[in-house]
Amino acid sequence: MDLMNKNLLKDTSYVDGEWINANDGSCSEILNPATSESLGFVPNCGSAETIAAIEAARRAQSIWSKTDAKERSSVLKNLHRLMLENQEDLAKIITLEGGKPISESIGEIAYAASFFEWFSEEAKRVYGDVIPAHQHDRRTLVIKQPIGVVGCITPWNFPSAMLARKIAPAIAVGCSVVAKPAPETPFSALALAYLSELAGFPKGLLNILTGDAERIGAVLTENKDIRKITFTGSTSVGKLLLKQSAESVKKVSLELGGHAPFIVFEDADLDAAVDGALIAKYRNSGQTCVCANRIYVQSGIYDAFCERFTEKTSGLVVGNGLEEKTQQGPLISNNAMRKVSLHIDDAKNKGATVATGGNPHNLGGLFFEPTVLTGVTDDMLIAKEETFGPVAPIFSFENEQEVVKRANDTPFGLAAYFYTSDLGKSWRVSEQLDYGMVGLNTGIISTEMAPFGGIKESGIGREGSKYGVDDYLEMKYISIAGIEE
Ligand code: NAP
Repeated sequence: MDLMNKNLLKDTSYVDGEWINANDGSCSEILNPATSESLGFVPNCGSAETIAAIEAARRAQSIWSKTDAKERSSVLKNLHRLMLENQEDLAKIITLEGGKPISESIGEIAYAASFFEWFSEEAKRVYGDVIPAHQHDRRTLVIKQPIGVVGCITPWNFPSAMLARKIAPAIAVGCSVVAKPAPETPFSALALAYLSELAGFPKGLLNILTGDAERIGAVLTENKDIRKITFTGSTSVGKLLLKQSAESVKKVSLELGGHAPFIVFEDADLDAAVDGALIAKYRNSGQTCVCANRIYVQSGIYDAFCERFTEKTSGLVVGNGLEEKTQQGPLISNNAMRKVSLHIDDAKNKGATVATGGNPHNLGGLFFEPTVLTGVTDDMLIAKEETFGPVAPIFSFENEQEVVKRANDTPFGLAAYFYTSDLGKSWRVSEQLDYGMVGLNTGIISTEMAPFGGIKESGIGREGSKYGVDDYLEMKYISIAGIEE
């Protein structure tokens, strides 16, 4: 990798402040999805390395939990600054290993860094309570304490931000972390570990293990010193980790799959809705958990919306994410290509029309054409499953009640979007959508200042915002007797 700061490129795991190889010396190769070129190798760690990392994290946590809030705040602030100082290089790493357009990667680093800034501030605001006494010689207190060592597993689609959203609140309140990044994108996580060292994280506080998901995941979920699991990824893996964590009754946070509806009412600003849908659909080539997966347009404006949306979609520039003009990078894998084709073929077979795209891109490899499907109906696979690719299925609807029912008819409940200019409808529909997050007249909702997370099979818990520390804290009630003389 051609980086300005070559120190950011680390190709070993990070345990107890040391850069380590797998005990058996085995490695996995990392490929650039845009070119299929090798970016290097990282260690294939397993159970023994995970146990060593947990022991290091436990030792570090027992000391870190006794530090004061200002000290914890200051190392997080340092990390925020270091990330922004290395923003260009860190973004390049994301684009090389994940394929994302460089402008989006620059944005992801700013977003990831913002969690370190936000939680450096929240570290100083972990308040307890004094509750009115229930007996005259008693006093009743509530204090909040760090939960302990946190096990953290993250996906490839936001390799820096998903880690930051978990590490920052954990460290802020006095926890330590053992993290396993996705196998496709380990270099972003290892660069973060390197910067955490410079920021002043004591050894053992943050440990990053690359390697075997099942073996690392099994140890993290079973080990009694891990008091919390925080996971971002697919619903199926989330359910498995929840089950595995049951035996030791761990606190679990899950940020899982989505199936976002994007509703456009006839009274909406049509141009704004088209632009919002483009962002909500095609960010990271449709590979985000909050991507619009079902676009519902009211029948009176259906044709006009489809025409404008299709025109803009067909103008999107596909290419290597390192090229400045690129708006759509490659997909992450052959499996992703297969799923996108499956959803398009199924929709076509059941009567949908391909308005633009529909095929692998002539650039070859993992590039796919940004695609619009019209005449989509609820019996199609794409109406039921997360596509995780650049396909926009456009459904037609008649009225508010009907579209809310159809939007909610899914096991998922992460993000939903709708466009309207009617104040009453804005409130009604916001309240009736069974989702953890709602974008009203906007296609972008993520910020470190608001609670990110889903309901139903999209997850448990919230990340970011003032609520983001709660999942890393235990509440302790202290009852003090004998106050009276
Ligand atoms: P994934 O297949 O569930 O993988 C996520 C992570 O889990 C990877 O590090 C993976 O490693 C690991 N993993 C897989 N099996 C495991 C096991 N048995 N034990 C422990 N770890 C295991 O998801 P993905 O394809 O990378 O990411 C896409 C999914 O994430 C989508 O469904 C998307 O909606 C969701 N997502 C949700 C959010 C949110 O905030 N709600 C944000 C981003 C993405 P291996 O690959 O080595 O198996």
